[in-house]
Amino acid sequence: MNANTPNLAPINQIPNPYGHSLPSYLQADNLGPWGVYLQQVDRVIPYLGHLARWAETLKRPKRALIVDVPIELDNGTIAHFEGYRVQHNTSRGPGKGGVRFHQDVTLSEVMALSAWMSVKNAAVNVPYGGAKGGIRVDPKTLSRGELERMTRRYTSEIGIIIGPTKDIPAPDVNTNEQIMAWMMDTYSMNEGATATGVVTGKPIDLGGSLGRREATGRGVYTVGAEAAHHLGMDISKARVAVQGFGNVGGIAGKLFAQAGARIVAVQDHGGTIYREAGLDVPALLAHVATQGSVAGFAQAESIEPDTFWDVDCDILIPAALEQQITSKNAGRIKARMVIEGANGPTTPEADDILHERNILVLPDVIANAGGVTVSYFEWVQDFSSFFWTEDEINARLVRIMKEAFAGVWHVAQEKKVSLRTATFIVACTRMLRARELRGLYP
Ligand code: GLU
Repeated sequence: MNANTPNLAPINQIPNPYGHSLPSYLQADNLGPWGVYLQQVDRVIPYLGHLARWAETLKRPKRALIVDVPIELDNGTIAHFEGYRVQHNTSRGPGKGGVRFHQDVTLSEVMALSAWMSVKNAAVNVPYGGAKGGIRVDPKTLSRGELERMTRRYTSEIGIIIGPTKDIPAPDVNTNEQIMAWMMDTYSMNEGATATGVVTGKPIDLGGSLGRREATGRGVYTVGAEAAHHLGMDISKARVAVQGFGNVGGIAGKLFAQAGARIVAVQDHGGTIYREAGLDVPALLAHVATQGSVAGFAQAESIEPDTFWDVDCDILIPAALEQQITSKNAGRIKARMVIEGANGPTTPEADDILHERNILVLPDVIANAGGVTVSYFEWVQDFSSFFWTEDEINARLVRIMKEAFAGVWHVAQEKKVSLRTATFIVACTRMLRARELRGLYP
């Protein structure tokens, strides 16, 4: 914590009947993703009125499952991977959230991601709680057969807590439609009946929804355009820098470019590229599709990764991983607006620095909610076995995103708080109101 974070309440001072603070595995003794989430929750508690009585609910995941995922590799050896599924909250409906395959996945990270799903789902008012899953693995090191075996074994292991009315996984970092197809099939084989509604983000031929693949990026663009309007910023003249050029950053970049913006810099795990006149986004997307990274894209200059944060731009879109904008680089950012395509890309210290510098942050829990919103449409379509057109889906998505954004914008103005705190106020109030109405069992 530094001089820029004067308002943080102490995290670990919640009384319980035995005088203990939070269980050790929930304490924010470092600034990992869960610690960041706890700080964000502490900022909202003063605004929860009588519901603050229930606030500790927000600081404890309802259920966390750690599973061993053993598979036989192609060379005959046995490999064990660590898998997780965390259900943070189910007060408003079943758990919902993606599954991430990444070598840095930890329980702390999955807990934070599951909590951000609870907040996100409540913020856009879809009838879900929050959940998240992950496997600690670099999927690029696996063959297709190994990837399939690992996905199926993981699904079978978490099968005791997921289900179409219990907890519905979806894609996240390094997972895609094919992985959702394997998850759906594995769950269905174990159940003895095809259950399309157990996951979303499936291929269209298996009950997937039109528009799901583009939905997160479309939502990022939609709230970005709304906020630009409030700021008096002309998108068609804006310079945009994007970190991560996958399903979120790539689509958002494409939509901003279509609106006339110049995408001047893109960074991903492989490299950082820059072009003052604006990158040719369709050509860059084609390059990434074959090469797996923006690195080596001929029609751009390659720059040092750290200089990405100094790029002269109007809009910055972090759309990769957590904790990218920190107290170390927040003071260098030139943008007028940051749109969080990723989950948790900004630390609380960096949030304060950006706020002081009058840089508007559109927080993840509203900015990237387009994906789960269309996941909700997919789930509804699977249950009703009646499928909507892409125009219907996009129109409903845009309506929900605009309404949710207008709501949190209003709260932010009224209470003079950041958009993140405003979104947490709206979402946590919805969650805790449901908690209070349901009451404690027994
Ligand atoms: N993984 C996405 C997210 O972080 C989507 C989750 C979902 O569709 O359930 O919001």
